[in-house]
Amino acid sequence: MTTSPSPTQPAPLSGVREAVRRTPAYPFTPIDAPIKLDQNESALDLPPELRALALARLATQDWNRYPDLHADTLRHKIAAFEDWDPEGVVVTPGSNVLIKLLTELAGLHQTVLSVQPTFSVYTLESSLLGAKTVLIPLNPDFSLPVEALSAELRGGGPGLLFVTQPHAPTGHLDAEADVRAVLDAAGEGWVAVLDEAYHQFSSSDGRSLVRGRENRLSLRTFSKAWGLAGLRLGYALTSPALAAHLQKLVSAFNVNILTQTVAEVALEHPGYVRERAAQTIAERDRVLAALKQHPVYSALPSQANFFLLRTPDADAAYQHLLSRGILVRRQDKLPMLGGCLRVSIGAPHENDALLEALAEINA
Ligand code: PMP
Repeated sequence: MTTSPSPTQPAPLSGVREAVRRTPAYPFTPIDAPIKLDQNESALDLPPELRALALARLATQDWNRYPDLHADTLRHKIAAFEDWDPEGVVVTPGSNVLIKLLTELAGLHQTVLSVQPTFSVYTLESSLLGAKTVLIPLNPDFSLPVEALSAELRGGGPGLLFVTQPHAPTGHLDAEADVRAVLDAAGEGWVAVLDEAYHQFSSSDGRSLVRGRENRLSLRTFSKAWGLAGLRLGYALTSPALAAHLQKLVSAFNVNILTQTVAEVALEHPGYVRERAAQTIAERDRVLAALKQHPVYSALPSQANFFLLRTPDADAAYQHLLSRGILVRRQDKLPMLGGCLRVSIGAPHENDALLEALAEINA
């Protein structure tokens, strides 16, 4: 006999916290396409000579042994690269993990504050923990609502603030003075996160906004400009005091030998990152310039390795590109982004294919 839940019966799987049961899973459906412009990855892998170096180094290591507890060698190499105190560096398998841990650190039973639209993982983690999520709409030009955020920071809290620069998913970069004003409003009681996943594709570098402030943190990743999304490695640059608390939440041995080794090799040869970021910026500017004259779609300006394409019918535009072998990401259900697709900048031949496919749309 089957029973249906009634008000007097516990919900199915009531051992699972209600906040978790209520939260939908991360919205991502993998689709195969020859030209993948949907995840803001790098179009290029680690340079072949560095891959060979990393593989040779891996061959000398003991895979039967646990890796270094807190990846100390890697943390010191990141610290040297970023000119940061090693005691203020925390590494995890992707910066998504840091977002989860930061929510647990500062947002549990408290407020998670960001803008709308925003990166979905902030709100997902807040929802999973049952924190209070407060999202303030961006200004119509996608700039930060400095006054409204500052008012919320002064009156609300305690909690966790996420500011993304350049912003995702719009690609907008704010004036540093505006970002500073928002961070300054996040006083005692707040942990302020500056998510800089895409900073290499812009002129921005938030280290000076974070340095010397106990409750501030820059979040960075190897998944974009470093071309190492498959390795899963992200890091926080923060104060030694905040890092010490955050580190307690990181599970032991969480960055594996493979990831530590490959990232160390990359950090010893970082020149390729600057070169490729410059190529990506040049390609982005070429694509955006070519789309300026588009009769139907408008490409929005961006300081990241992706841009938004506003269309009259996002589904039709998405299906058209897919029919030409090009996969992009729909963003049209997000507030302020009606009709929008998010398109990553690919390799030059992929961008050419994108422009050709878009040139077919003329009415
Ligand atoms: N922050 C932002 C704004 C992102 O867009 C992403 C990746 N989509 C991340 C953080 C997470 O990156 P990862 O977990 O690959 O380090």
